[in-house]
Amino acid sequence: MKTQKELIAKLGNPYTALKTFEKKWMEYWDIPDDINKEIPALPNKVYMNYLIIQPFEDTMRELIATGLHKEIKTWDGCFNVRTKRGQSGISVHSWGIAVDLNAAWNTFHGKVSWSNEFLDVWRRNGWICGADWSKASVDGMHFQGDNFVPA
Ligand SMILES: [Zn+2]
Repeated sequence: MKTQKELIAKLGNPYTALKTFEKKWMEYWDIPDDINKEIPALPNKVYMNYLIIQPFEDTMRELIATGLHKEIKTWDGCFNVRTKRGQSGISVHSWGIAVDLNAAWNTFHGKVSWSNEFLDVWRRNGWICGADWSKASVDGMHFQGDNFVPA
């Protein structure tokens, strides 16, 4: 995982320079129709850091190909400039490099509803899964794309 300092150095600071950050990194991505058809929970357009668009699309396509996409029931957001829940520090959602899914079934610090096969597709595609974090910080809804931010 990248530190807050590394993310600020690479992507800028969405708190102190939001417009500059958005102009440089954020994109309205029109989710391809065939993906929307298979996963109706996803919005037609998402506002994402462009660094995670291709990995996200690849992950959705692999989930569809394996039938695991049926586990996705709700889209719970990507870009959100905020601090981490219950902590100081900037949430990675502030850089638009994380997505939340099925929040109602994967509450913060609560249970994880995903199958291991589903999570494996994300892991294989380079995502950090909040479901893999220790009991004290588990965040099953959360998939984060630090690995797509160049070093
Ligand atoms: Zn999240």
